[in-house]
Amino acid sequence: MTVSAIPPARLAQRLRNVASSPVRDLLALTSRPEVISFAGGLPAPELFDVEGLRAAFDQVLTGPAARRTLQYAPTEGNAELRALVAERMTRRGLPTTGADLLVTTGSQQALTLVATALLDPGAVVVVEEPTYLAALQSFQLIGARIVPVAGDEDGIDPVALAEVLERERPTLIYLVPTFANPTGRTLSASRRTVVAELAAAHGVWVVEDDPYGELRYRGETLAPLAAEPAAGSRVIHLGSFSKTGAPGLRLGWLRAPASLLPALVIAKQVADLHTSTVDQAAAASWIGATDLDAHVRRLREVYGLRRDAMLSALPGTLPAGSTWSNPDGGMFVWTRLPAVADTASLLPLALERDVAFVPGAAFFAGDPDRSTLRLSFTTHTPEEISEGMRRLGTVLRG
Ligand code: PMP
Repeated sequence: MTVSAIPPARLAQRLRNVASSPVRDLLALTSRPEVISFAGGLPAPELFDVEGLRAAFDQVLTGPAARRTLQYAPTEGNAELRALVAERMTRRGLPTTGADLLVTTGSQQALTLVATALLDPGAVVVVEEPTYLAALQSFQLIGARIVPVAGDEDGIDPVALAEVLERERPTLIYLVPTFANPTGRTLSASRRTVVAELAAAHGVWVVEDDPYGELRYRGETLAPLAAEPAAGSRVIHLGSFSKTGAPGLRLGWLRAPASLLPALVIAKQVADLHTSTVDQAAAASWIGATDLDAHVRRLREVYGLRRDAMLSALPGTLPAGSTWSNPDGGMFVWTRLPAVADTASLLPLALERDVAFVPGAAFFAGDPDRSTLRLSFTTHTPEEISEGMRRLGTVLRG
């Protein structure tokens, strides 16, 4: 048989509903050094604590303990790391012990574990519209039906949510309540209470996906949604080292109610037995030896200035009549250009001028608003942001 006669692979039905992430596809196009990319939601590499992490890996791979570090280990994760994470979460207003936590291979894995443990094909998942597209992918892969609910500057609309809960009887609500991807919005304190009460009243699980919560540049800290009194046994809180440590570590965690954690541990056993023991041990060593609060303060300072640079350039970049979000933290500004029918048509022109953004359509589970786009402000200096926005202006304003 010649090579060309080999029939194409027949994929499982479940993969047919899942598109490749345009953000990940764009990463390949924007890796040319001359491109000023506002596309990927990447943390700034110059802020990674390379020295500290190298010392941590050195430490855990030195002496007799190295042999344990390289061995298989329990699925739940490194006990020291879980204790350190629990202590930090408790300080952030969510009382937690190591026993409440499961270490995951990035919070992305936590999303697939939750989908595996809780959703049958056809189960209904409610999301704020627009939302994190790789969360949509994990729910699509399992064959869930995704029902979008609109939000505004204060997060998901509680009245619309109440109606959908009544009508659709969902299994799960997925939210990024603090500095959301892609909008940068934060669910207000009063809405947190309402969402937790609605979830409890309807017996619905809530996923609070929180990779950006520590990256606040302005305003008062809000306790996690999982800390709401009504949320106790209903909210699964997801955390990540990707934005405060480094995403290449692929380390995250989930905090789940005791009734659910054992099922998630089984799903994790099936997925990968456990997260890399070396990486977990090094992360524990790094957190133990580093002033993590000072490191996060530095991230906030630098990213805050970059957010300011982008916000101040926006009025001169976008066409008249455009609107944009004004995030208190996180990595993203979400914009809407009502005069543009589809921002995807502008992306090739932007790439020609060495600047990039993500067209908004991929973040919608329902009918997409194609006049939207997402801009990330974290990976470039304020000067580069000004130059990138100037280039973007020539594309968007013609
Ligand atoms: N959730 C959201 C909302 C995200 O934006 C991201 C990363 N962009 C993730 C989860 C996945 O992060 P991790 O690197 O921890 O897998």
